[in-house]
Amino acid sequence: MATDQEIFLKAKNRTFSGYTEEEQCEWKEPFYFILAADPQLGLMKAWSVGDCENGGDEWGQEVTLTQQAVQAVNKLTPRPKFMVLCGDLIHAMPGTQWRDEQERDLKDALRGVDPAIPLVFVSGNHDIGNTPTPETIAQYRRSWGDDYFSFWVGGVLFLVLNSQLFFDSSACPDQRAAHEAWLSEQLDSAKHRACRHTVVFQHIPIFLRSPEEDNDYFNLEKTFRLQLLERFHKAGVKAVFSGHYHRNAGGMHNGVDMVVTSAIGCQLGTDPHGLRLVVVTEEKVVHRYYSLDELSKTGMEKELRDLLE
Ligand SMILES: [Zn+2]
Repeated sequence: MATDQEIFLKAKNRTFSGYTEEEQCEWKEPFYFILAADPQLGLMKAWSVGDCENGGDEWGQEVTLTQQAVQAVNKLTPRPKFMVLCGDLIHAMPGTQWRDEQERDLKDALRGVDPAIPLVFVSGNHDIGNTPTPETIAQYRRSWGDDYFSFWVGGVLFLVLNSQLFFDSSACPDQRAAHEAWLSEQLDSAKHRACRHTVVFQHIPIFLRSPEEDNDYFNLEKTFRLQLLERFHKAGVKAVFSGHYHRNAGGMHNGVDMVVTSAIGCQLGTDPHGLRLVVVTEEKVVHRYYSLDELSKTGMEKELRDLLE
């Protein structure tokens, strides 16, 4: 039996145990991973009745959806290399009621994931607060591991960022500076190392449809956004995967594919509850969003094998 440490705390010392650079830096063959966003236990109730008590303790529907996602993922063959949860794991903000209960129920559901599929966690605004503090970040790291880190899988460099530090770092300037220095170093190494592709995960999308769009709760501030896109472009980043929007969206800019993925949990648009499958080939990073029902259907195996050819 895998321990909680092995399931939830793989991201340590700014890397991810199990996928080390020494073993994984060379391109081998096409593979795929699962991208899931915003299980956000507690949002559905809060959304329907107003955010009075962080949703009360009635997040059973979100637990069921997460369990359905876990079962669908476990059935996939060949197996995904990992499953990344792109932030907003639970709804209750740091320091508010129901947080411990939501975290407990989410972890119970995630313990059902096949232990051979490592879980990668990304911090969202609900996980560390809209204005994170050193304490909320420390709390997150105790529950889910490092808030930013990098790892290699089959010749591809993956960067997990803490996008809340881009959004509002007024209460943790030191963390922002450290994150910034680390990111520059990583992007620099992406440029110079022989990685096949570089892929970024961050909760808040850089943009939703176009880099020129107005500032919004769901994107990053425009001046900063354009600078970040330019840095990613120069470093050869192929794709950025985000959640936060609870709808599918995104767009291509200067060779960087900004991919916004809808939620396992509460939908704010018309997408079904679902997950994204991301296939990495020698030339490309291709992806498609599947509803949880579609993912459980027969025939997925053939579809996957065709994509991986
Ligand atoms: Zn969010």
